Amino acid sequence: MLEHKNQEKTTLAALGEFGLIEHLTKNFSIYHQSTLKSVGDDAAVLDFKDKKVVLTTDMLVEGVHFDLSYMPLKHLGYKAVIANLSDIFAMNAKATQILVSIAVSNRFPLEALEELYTGIRLATNKFKVDLVGGDTTSSKTGMIISITALGEASAEEIVYRDGAKENDLLVVSGDLGGAYMGLQVLEREKEVFKVNPNNQPDLEPYTYIVERQLKPEARKDIIELLHKLEIRPTAMIDISDGLSSEILHLCKQSNVGCNLFEDKIPLDPTVIAACEEFNIDSTLVALSGGEDYELLFTLDQIHYPKIKGNPNLTVIGHMTDSSEGTALITRGATKIPLTAQGWNAFKTSP
Ligand SMILES: [Mg+2]
Repeated sequence: MLEHKNQEKTTLAALGEFGLIEHLTKNFSIYHQSTLKSVGDDAAVLDFKDKKVVLTTDMLVEGVHFDLSYMPLKHLGYKAVIANLSDIFAMNAKATQILVSIAVSNRFPLEALEELYTGIRLATNKFKVDLVGGDTTSSKTGMIISITALGEASAEEIVYRDGAKENDLLVVSGDLGGAYMGLQVLEREKEVFKVNPNNQPDLEPYTYIVERQLKPEARKDIIELLHKLEIRPTAMIDISDGLSSEILHLCKQSNVGCNLFEDKIPLDPTVIAACEEFNIDSTLVALSGGEDYELLFTLDQIHYPKIKGNPNLTVIGHMTDSSEGTALITRGATKIPLTAQGWNAFKTSP
């Protein structure tokens, strides 16, 4: 989709690697005192003093993790940063710096990378993180983006996946399944477009779920809210793969079981409507959909009065003794084992 426009565009070769890096990174702001030296030397220099450093990295490959036929480059840049920051917030840490590395084929002109970096810059400005380095190189085909994010927290603040206790409440932020249903809508429109390129899709009814797919947000606000409420979760994880697989991670690493209540899973009305239209079970979408970038955490019941009625937080279950296993309590009050794929009623027997 970019090739035919290349005539009026600037080739990357015209700038050279250092010129390119300088061009792409010149408009980024620095927000943190811990950033002593950012882009422009052989390495960045950071000083976290007595804080612990939280570090994560994530690689996105064109055709595997994203499809540029419906993912605008600006959104891709934004989302790539969000996915990393979400992992920092899931440690109950403050995100501080990122490094961005990209490999691109010659089908991408400078203007395409400017779009990508505009999205990256939007995310760094919104979440106040410093771009302190990275690399640009060429690829034979397509685009690869690798982002590394750093964050800081005191040793007492950091929340791991292994601290959940029996009787702790299981809480999730926001609502689930939107990103997956947004992807279903985009995939469908792409197929329609292939058949009839003049067919302009009306995505208006799907604004929320398409946005959940193309422009997700990391829940920094939830970390700040918990801090304000003086709640330290006992265990936490972000929802990148789907609710059920993240619950299984918490249960396994904390050595506890859990009861998840189907009727408590937060679903936006547009997700429910899209599930009906696509004839997909909305619970299955929430359990297995992924890419929602919400936070899933456990907390002591003593904190319940502080979160009760908060529209951003939903208690969806509680932790049990490991001998009780990980279970979904359905709307019909049937207890069924939770699996990474959703629940085992959907497992096809070999
Ligand atoms: Mg994660």
